[in-house]
Amino acid sequence: MMMRDPISGSPVDTEKAQYTADARGKTYFFDSPIHMRRFLEGERIAYFTMEIGLESDIPTYSGGLGVLAGDAVRSSADLRIPLVAVTLVSRKGYLRQKITADGVQQELPDEWDPARYTRPLPEEVTVRIDGRDVRIRAWYYDQESPVGGLVPVILLDTDTEENAPKDRRITGPLYGGDSAFRLRQEIVLGIGGVKMLQALNFRVERYHMNEGHSSLLTLELMRMNGYDADMTGDMCVFTTHTPIAAAMDTFSYDEVGKAIDFPLDILKKYGGEDRLNLTLLALNMSKYHNGVAKAHQEYSRKLFHGYHIREITNGVHPFTWTCPEFRKLFDRYIHGWANEPELLVRVNKIPNEEIWDAHVKAKTALIDYVHESAGADLDPDALTIGFARRATGYKRATLIFSDLGHLKEINQKRPIQLLFSGKAHPHDENGKQLIKDIYAYRDRLKGDIEVVYLENYTMDLAARLTSGVDVWLNTPLPPMEASGTSGMKAAFNGVMNFSVLDGWWAEGCVEGVTGWAIGPGPDEQVTEEQRRARELRDLYNKLEYIILPLYYGMEDEWTHRMKNAIGMIAYYFNSHVMMRRYASEAYL
Ligand SMILES: *Cc1c(COP(=O)(O)O)cnc(C)c1O
Repeated sequence: MMMRDPISGSPVDTEKAQYTADARGKTYFFDSPIHMRRFLEGERIAYFTMEIGLESDIPTYSGGLGVLAGDAVRSSADLRIPLVAVTLVSRKGYLRQKITADGVQQELPDEWDPARYTRPLPEEVTVRIDGRDVRIRAWYYDQESPVGGLVPVILLDTDTEENAPKDRRITGPLYGGDSAFRLRQEIVLGIGGVKMLQALNFRVERYHMNEGHSSLLTLELMRMNGYDADMTGDMCVFTTHTPIAAAMDTFSYDEVGKAIDFPLDILKKYGGEDRLNLTLLALNMSKYHNGVAKAHQEYSRKLFHGYHIREITNGVHPFTWTCPEFRKLFDRYIHGWANEPELLVRVNKIPNEEIWDAHVKAKTALIDYVHESAGADLDPDALTIGFARRATGYKRATLIFSDLGHLKEINQKRPIQLLFSGKAHPHDENGKQLIKDIYAYRDRLKGDIEVVYLENYTMDLAARLTSGVDVWLNTPLPPMEASGTSGMKAAFNGVMNFSVLDGWWAEGCVEGVTGWAIGPGPDEQVTEEQRRARELRDLYNKLEYIILPLYYGMEDEWTHRMKNAIGMIAYYFNSHVMMRRYASEAYL
């Protein structure tokens, strides 16, 4: 049998292999002793994340942050960046969403069986929580790249017989429970994660915190290094994803003092005087910090005065987010695109008809899926607009319904149809109301505009939607969208973005060339009221006078812009570029 050397990526014949190693429950094959040594003993970057989208069916993600972590790991495997990822096993998943006929979200548990997808490891570590020793074990997932390269993913689990029932639940629901529960999860992730890496003999030279949730890891590093904050800072990289202070995890020192065994005076010095702020702790304990888009860097610098915040714009994994039809097309014309997405700049080698043909196939696949899963019949010829992401207030999913009369008029001239999807967090009443509102708008538009809400947004559904619609809509309330990534997925499939200039789109949009902007850019000096007015005007006017006429009357012009999306957006806004930047700017 042929296996790939996880360091060099070259094929190794397992019958003849000279260099083999049993590690973490599996046998690995190498083409040289150097590679074997590097795999077993080489220094790695530990990527800590509360959520991760490894596969659509492994429900350890809730939205963009987790999918980004998955893409970071997938790209690192492809590029053979020596990462090891650490996360929680989240046995109860996030939530499986059902929606009643009148739009009420029902939250079903989304339990998964780690044994089906991962291997149990024998190592165990303990952390002290609330004065008790809590045992942590781990599951192991190999993120293997089709071109060689492998990133181990460690999923921490407290569900062992020795633990009290209360502690066994810590790694159950992702983002479930109250503040005290969240704090326990973050202790397991941060402190438990560092200990587990040691127990597994990983040599870690950098700790990358993907958002503040994991920043308690710095406490364990402090402890290991004689409370030397400077040394700890040298080892840590922090990526912030939150543009407003209210959304950051904070805990009272009362709570923290009870839960964690750590000198509070030191904690207060780095994590905030009044409350422990995990973002502040991460900032103070790392010497490299970055926002996730250029606009987000600006907001973050205003939010955290005195910190040198850099930026590395998020990206999406090229192969994962390109639909089968476009993969085939790119393979034929742009050899090597998946591992070197910069080559997509050559997209003009592909004839327009073939681009359009691939898109029609992806759109047909989506329409079939909508028919099967929601019983709705969409028109294959109508301009199809997609909007899918977490259902939460700032994403403003209902903005397009602001003026139903106007929307109907636009639709009478040239027909549109709308597809929605997204889960609301169980505690987010406003988010759930938005889903109900969309259902109500759907009913009011019946007979005019087809509106469909697809249940249970997952990575799989995201891939179908971002490849099968014609226009991808995003209308967040600036500056709340730190980056956003679904529009990048759309670009890999030649789907046009029509979005508010927040997050990555402030960089990706070249008006009328790569897509269209809704409202003023982040630097324009306008009042909030003017901003809202311009957003609505752009939304309706550009749809009516620019996008629809182009779509219906000028197929070549439209296809030309689809190519721009691929050659001017996808080639750059991807996780290969992102991870190469992390490697050269943050890790080295
Ligand atoms: C890509 C993705 C997201 C992120 O979407 P945004 O538009 O960036 O909010 C959320 N959920 C799933 C399942 C995704 O695949």
